[in-house]
Amino acid sequence: MRTPAEGCTKCSLSNHRQNIVWHRGNPFGAIVLIGEAPGADEDATGKAFVGRAGKKLDEILMKAKAYNANVPIAPEEVLIVNTVKCRPPENRVPTEDEMTKCRPYLQSQLELSNPHIIVLLGKTSADALLGGKSSLGDYRGSVHQCEIGSVVAPAVVTYHPAALLRNPKWGAEVVKDFKEVIRLWKDLNG
Ligand code: SF4
Repeated sequence: MRTPAEGCTKCSLSNHRQNIVWHRGNPFGAIVLIGEAPGADEDATGKAFVGRAGKKLDEILMKAKAYNANVPIAPEEVLIVNTVKCRPPENRVPTEDEMTKCRPYLQSQLELSNPHIIVLLGKTSADALLGGKSSLGDYRGSVHQCEIGSVVAPAVVTYHPAALLRNPKWGAEVVKDFKEVIRLWKDLNG
């Protein structure tokens, strides 16, 4: 798939990539989920969240959809993206410089979808999109305001699905966070 980032060499992540990983799901999704960075499976396929963490995320989204059929939260209804479009070596956390250089692409994706709600998956994307530095525990449990370009939307922070794979006991907390997403959707859309 050709993307606006085709051939981008703005940061050194371009040196290692096989594919630019632009998104998965609906580019016009009213709910947008933002993760940290592509991993090996994403780099190989060019699609966001297709590895084990992606399957976990789909499981969560399908359960949320099963209980709330009117909310556009199924995997094919939401837009799923990352803070950077190329895989960092050894899956390290992207640097602030890399995220800043890649941000115009993320901004263009968000401006296209103009989301009602943003879900930030993990501390890296929460720091990047909320402009601060807090622990995940401090971010969770509140509704934040996310501003990027012309987009202003409420944001909920939850665990990255990869963290959930490492610590399945956090599953109940993720369910709580997605219940908050559903509540917000109902508040905003009647
Ligand atoms: S991560 Fe973003 S800014 Fe860096 S090379 Fe890839 S597309 Fe360009």
